[in-house]
Amino acid sequence: MLAITHADLIMLDQRIPDAVLFIDDGRIKGWGEHWNTEVPKDCEVIDAGGLYVGPGFVDIHCHASNGVRFKHDPTVSVPNTLKHGTTTLLPTLAYADTKEFYLYAIKMLMDFSKTPEGANIGGIYMEGPYLNAGFGSNKAKTAALPWTTGIRKEDYQDLIDLLGDFVRVWAVAPEREGILEFVKDAKKGNPNVRFAVGHSEATPEQIEALIPYGLCIGTHHTNATGTIVKYPECRGVCVDECVNYNSNIYAELIVDKRGIHVDPYMLRLVRKIKGDERIILITDGSYNPGPTPPGYEGVDDIWFDNEGEIGGTKLTSDLVCRNMMKHTGAGFPEAFRMASYNPATAVGFTDRGEIAVGKRADLVMIDDKVNVQAVFLNGKLQKS
Ligand SMILES: [Zn+2]
Repeated sequence: MLAITHADLIMLDQRIPDAVLFIDDGRIKGWGEHWNTEVPKDCEVIDAGGLYVGPGFVDIHCHASNGVRFKHDPTVSVPNTLKHGTTTLLPTLAYADTKEFYLYAIKMLMDFSKTPEGANIGGIYMEGPYLNAGFGSNKAKTAALPWTTGIRKEDYQDLIDLLGDFVRVWAVAPEREGILEFVKDAKKGNPNVRFAVGHSEATPEQIEALIPYGLCIGTHHTNATGTIVKYPECRGVCVDECVNYNSNIYAELIVDKRGIHVDPYMLRLVRKIKGDERIILITDGSYNPGPTPPGYEGVDDIWFDNEGEIGGTKLTSDLVCRNMMKHTGAGFPEAFRMASYNPATAVGFTDRGEIAVGKRADLVMIDDKVNVQAVFLNGKLQKS
């Protein structure tokens, strides 16, 4: 058995400032306060020295890390997420790839997840292929992309078959013609799969029609989400309003240092509307080495593509957590709920995401500025 002593435990609804945490066989065995807990003589002991110990981060929406996309090479990029405390990662595939490339990348990531370096991979998040990325300024740019015409079983069924239960989330644009048939078939392929609404300009009615099939996530809420103008000068209702309105839908938030993806005021507003129980912090880590466009000088945690548009982040989950605390005043238990418990729960992991007896001992040890000092995966201290 392993005992982590002098730990400041970050629990779901509590913070225990001087605790002992017991780990056995990769699981959390128990915990107690220092003043009334005895550590058995035969226990291996790691002294946390007063550092915070929380559940490892669960990043469900991330395309790349360390400047490399997972679909191109996961060998360094995936371990880099673990180094930053992400003990469960859903490598995310976006909407611009061909069927042949999807099939290659999915198989490659499935194989990699079975190797020691891929041990923190928990499945795949499919951000596509059936989105509506062509609205607004993106219209011309996305016209040439695959998957933008009809939705056909002969195109998508191979993806569903290969993915099996490895797919945790499919993001869809509910306004796409034929989406319901796809959703039904995807659910047949994996009855536990979740759907997200993303890159969409659907009406609330179109989105709500998919809730009975498992739509429960709003993809990067308030960022690259559509708007509808029904009557000039009157605010329409679209994806953001629907995600805000339906209390069971989780809102993903990209939280960068300056609040560019989501303005700090919007972060606080979403916290107020959704509550800490329905927010998922994501990195949307990516790689797009374009030049920094005017107005963004000094921005060091966001990628820009060659057209000068935002193209994902350089963030890791530790930084997202810190940024959320900074922008909204959330404390450690709240930030960890949004970065660990909520994402785990939203995509169906019941064995992780919190420090509780019987859960996987996926842990991150951090200082008060959320600098990662140590990571445990399945109870094992990882080499840094
Ligand atoms: Zn996206």
